[in-house]
Amino acid sequence: MYKINIIFVILGTQIKLTMYGKFQKHLQDELQSIKDAGLYKNERIIASPQGAEITLADGSKALNFCANNYLGLADNPRLAKAAEVAMAKRGYGMSSVRFICGTQDLHKELEKAIAEYFHTEDAILYAACFDANGGVFEPLLTPEDAIISDSLNHASIIDGVRLCKAQRLRYANADMADLEAKLKEAQQYRFRIIVTDGVFSMDGNVAPMDKICDLAEKYDALVMVDESHSAGVVGKTGHGVAEQFGCYGRIDIFTGTLGKAFGGAVGGFTTGRKEIIDMLRQRSRPYLFSNSIPPMIAAAGLETFKILKESNALHDKLVENVNYFRDRMMAAGFDIKPTQSAIVAVMLYDAPLSQKFAAKMAEEGIFVTGFYYPVVPQGQARIRVQLSAAHEKAHLDKAIAAFIKVGKELEVLK
Ligand SMILES: *Cc1c(COP(=O)(O)O)cnc(C)c1O
Repeated sequence: MYKINIIFVILGTQIKLTMYGKFQKHLQDELQSIKDAGLYKNERIIASPQGAEITLADGSKALNFCANNYLGLADNPRLAKAAEVAMAKRGYGMSSVRFICGTQDLHKELEKAIAEYFHTEDAILYAACFDANGGVFEPLLTPEDAIISDSLNHASIIDGVRLCKAQRLRYANADMADLEAKLKEAQQYRFRIIVTDGVFSMDGNVAPMDKICDLAEKYDALVMVDESHSAGVVGKTGHGVAEQFGCYGRIDIFTGTLGKAFGGAVGGFTTGRKEIIDMLRQRSRPYLFSNSIPPMIAAAGLETFKILKESNALHDKLVENVNYFRDRMMAAGFDIKPTQSAIVAVMLYDAPLSQKFAAKMAEEGIFVTGFYYPVVPQGQARIRVQLSAAHEKAHLDKAIAAFIKVGKELEVLK
């Protein structure tokens, strides 16, 4: 009996191994092809707070030009303190979704602060902007309606659109003639909504919101913008695309993240017209079936909007840094996409060159990212630089000097 049992155990194990065996082989092959294509993602292990200067797990130091830390708030002591105080007073987590027993006064106050920041009527929090975009279309639109989406919109918008049964139309990036054609095509549907990122993360270009709103009015469409890369960054005081293009009151839905300019932790939101937000609270699945953000995150979020209300210094410094970096890089002879945001694309066009360039920059202690097809169009490889209010002039000068050195070594510069 004892022996038989052992044999069964061994047989059982073998059967399990065989079943995973085929799948394992499949995954190994797939992973190898990702590596062969040079698309395998390795992670840098940071052993310090996020900021302009970071320390890696191996003790080496680097200047960080590839975080979305636009206002430099990721290691802000006021935010850390606000989180600490809230955790001491309100505990660690909520253990609930919002509508059952997961709402504190802090959540309501943060929603109010977000609506105030964007000059909207109400706001609803999510665990991430990925969830905000995943949960915005399906509750509002049906197969009778149409979503008209910019071709370079973020993955979370694409997924959100997929989860909704509305008709889908796509227009070329920021191309108003194409948008108009798609709006004409969509006249047969009950409701139409135009959806765009505020700032597109690869070129750093801004969606032409004034023209989008004009077309929306002409063709009777709603307007939604994802402010993840634009809020805190564009506009005279950094309040995003509505401020930049004077479009307050003409945009029906904004989505955004607390994970970029607004502190860099986690959390997303949708803000806009009262009835829309109310309907999302009733029907939006990532809101109904996923946990509340923890009290400390809500408190730090509130502190973020307080800091931004007190002074525009962080945004002013960001703009100064972007201008300084861009002007000196252009003067050095680099081919820079005409940025309107905190994203500067240094064009190299050649994919292997972009990887080599980024690797050499890392050797110089500067972290930037090399992007190439399929992340950007074929033959449009580049280095993406993200500026931050956390950068000091000395950081910028060091990065520019490294760019010039590597640029000469790789014969990008003459
Ligand atoms: C980063 C980003 C998101 C996702 O935000 P999370 O809060 O990190 O989920 C959504 N949309 C756009 C345009 C983004 O850039």
